[in-house]
Amino acid sequence: MNVKVFLVGAGPGDPDLLTVKALRLIEQSEVVVYDRLVSPGILALIPTGTKRIYAGKACGAHHLDQDAINDLLVSLARSGRNVVRLKGGDPFVFGRGSEEAQYLHQHGISFEVVPGITAAIACTTYAGIPLTHRGLANGVRIVTGHGSNNDDLDLDWQGMANKDTTLVIYMGLGNIEKVTHGLKNAGRSGETPVAIIERGTTAQQRCLITHLNGMSQCALDNAVESPALIVIGQVVELASELDWFITGDNLVQYEQDQDQQQRAYKA
Ligand code: SAH
Repeated sequence: MNVKVFLVGAGPGDPDLLTVKALRLIEQSEVVVYDRLVSPGILALIPTGTKRIYAGKACGAHHLDQDAINDLLVSLARSGRNVVRLKGGDPFVFGRGSEEAQYLHQHGISFEVVPGITAAIACTTYAGIPLTHRGLANGVRIVTGHGSNNDDLDLDWQGMANKDTTLVIYMGLGNIEKVTHGLKNAGRSGETPVAIIERGTTAQQRCLITHLNGMSQCALDNAVESPALIVIGQVVELASELDWFITGDNLVQYEQDQDQQQRAYKA
């Protein structure tokens, strides 16, 4: 039997950011197993006759646990169908795609992996924030703000405090205060610019510009919800010039306290 599981990255939300290969596979597959982060616009591209299975995970409320997803992929492949496993962003960036690939490998099932545009690349670009910029950032660091054990956020704070590196935090909302303290204790300035990008690349994108000292309060005041990305570094300042996705008409001003005026952009 010559069946395959395709682990496909769907990108961050905007269907136009799908790769040509991803779209072709979605159109040709017999079953699509998809995650919570796969946007409605992308789901609309799945042909009506194709079987869809929701395997989404919302924090704390797993629809299918990872073992069940792994078993499902194996049994669908063994039933002789071509399967697309569609995941938000890139399958190998905090997407557990590598674990699913390992499981398929262990069970003798062929697979291919199709990269997708990961949130760190796409959401920042749609917010007018270059991850690197001469003189402002000579590198990027991508980390998860969600500890493997919920109480524990075991990150390399010293490395993350490097002011020449842009820091991008996935799944960081729940631990936003710990991140602030960890970075400040390691020497990163409280004045470092921060962007919180919610539902990046979609019509609902919001980009809140603040700074390290204020980011926790900013997320709270604006009731920021998942999925959201936290971007920390001098490059965030460039959003005021390079923001091309959200128009000036949607600029929302608000003040967190007397000293610090902050800007919130709402699509
Ligand atoms: N594999 C995905 C990441 C999965 S982890 C990727 O490569 O992008 C889920 C986290 O990704 C979210 O909690 C959020 O921090 C981030 N994320 C994914 N899509 C996003 C979006 N459209 N806007 C903002 N953050 C996003």
